[in-house]
Amino acid sequence: MGAPTGPPPGRLAGGTPRAALAELLTGNRRFVSGQPVHGHDVTAAAAAASGDQQPYAVVLGCIDSRVPLEAIFDQTFGAICVIRTGGHVLDRAVCGSIEYVVGQLGVPLVLVLGHERCGAVGAAVDALRTGERPGGSLAHLVDEIAPAVLDAGVDDPAVHPLAIRRHVRRTVHTLRADDLLAGPVAAGRVDVVGGLYDLATGEVALLEGP
Ligand SMILES: [Zn+2]
Repeated sequence: MGAPTGPPPGRLAGGTPRAALAELLTGNRRFVSGQPVHGHDVTAAAAAASGDQQPYAVVLGCIDSRVPLEAIFDQTFGAICVIRTGGHVLDRAVCGSIEYVVGQLGVPLVLVLGHERCGAVGAAVDALRTGERPGGSLAHLVDEIAPAVLDAGVDDPAVHPLAIRRHVRRTVHTLRADDLLAGPVAAGRVDVVGGLYDLATGEVALLEGP
């Protein structure tokens, strides 16, 4: 497969949240179809050709090794900013990073991507069911995910998939209300949306509604 030429999509993809989301989802369809444009172009030469970065989206996802974000959206160097934490949990560093990308780099879209069978959400479910809160900083992850688990119903047999969806939505709501993001979101210059990654098919589905 030949290396793509020209600059990364960056702002060429359009400066609106809608155009950025369409670009991401188009990349995911290329990935799902087994015909990525950038999938095999992970060379130092491609990295060098990216020049100045002009990313068009920031994707916040989980650390899960099965969900490499640039790959599942078929994105090349310079196209998207990626932040990954366990269960896409927010902290000040994550929020500050997103504020930087939106405010300083002019990125119009933030996608929060959860995934099925998320171990971080499973850890929160286990902690709430057993009453055993983990130690260390793992407690922060569990504490941040716990409200979604409680919303879903800790004793519900389907709590895990339900909590995954609720946790994505809660993360989206938190980011939309962020001090430096709320204004651009209200003005329509920036959007924050949630999605779910299907480990079996590779497909990303948007979570519609509140
Ligand atoms: Zn996960």
